[in-house]
Amino acid sequence: MDFKKYITVVEDWPKEGVKFKDITTLMDNGPAYKAAVDEIVKYAEDKQIDIVVGPEARGFIVGCPVSYALEIGFAPVRKEGKLPREVVKVDYGLEYGKDVLTIHKDAIKPGQRVLITDDLLATGGTIEATIKLVEELGGIVVGCAFLIELSYLNGRDKLNGYDVLTLMKY
Ligand code: 5GP
Repeated sequence: MDFKKYITVVEDWPKEGVKFKDITTLMDNGPAYKAAVDEIVKYAEDKQIDIVVGPEARGFIVGCPVSYALEIGFAPVRKEGKLPREVVKVDYGLEYGKDVLTIHKDAIKPGQRVLITDDLLATGGTIEATIKLVEELGGIVVGCAFLIELSYLNGRDKLNGYDVLTLMKY
C-alpha cells in the first residue's frame, strides 16, 4: 500500500520551518491503519517477541494494535511523573527540546525479547532513550518499527546494530 498518501504534511508546525508529518489521517482510515499495523505484525512474527514497548503517545498508537495481534503484552514508556510505581528513567534530547522518559521497573524481565514501536524516527533521540530503558531492565531489543523515517535527520545512525523497519521515508 502507498501509505504516504494517508499522511498529511503540515507546514510550519509546531514551529516555523518544520514540516510535521500528521499520522492521524492514516489512523482514521480503517483499511490504511490496519494495513500499516499488519506490516509491522508480519515483520515481528518470526522474531519470537515477548513484549512490545512504545513511548508516549504515538508509540502506543502503533504498538498496542501490534501487541494485540501478536497476543503479547505492551509496556508504555512515559514522561516523568506519569507512571504510578517504581520506574527507571533516562534523560534524552528530542527534535524540539529536552525531556525525561521512564518505564516501570518490573515492565520487562531480564532476557525478554522486545519490539520497540513509534510513529516516526527523526533524530533518533526518543528511540535511543527507549532502548536504554529496555536494556537497563535486561531486555533484548530484537526490532524497532516505525511508520515514518525522516532520513535527512539521520536517526538510523543511533540504531547501528539494531534491526529497523520503517514503512515510509521522507
Ligand atoms: P526523535 O526523538 O527521533 O528526534 O523524534 C521522534 C519523536 O518525535 C517521535 O516520538 C515522534 O512522535 C515525534 N515527532 C517528531 N517529528 C514528528 C513529525 O513530523 N510527525 C510526528 N507524527 N511525530 C513527530
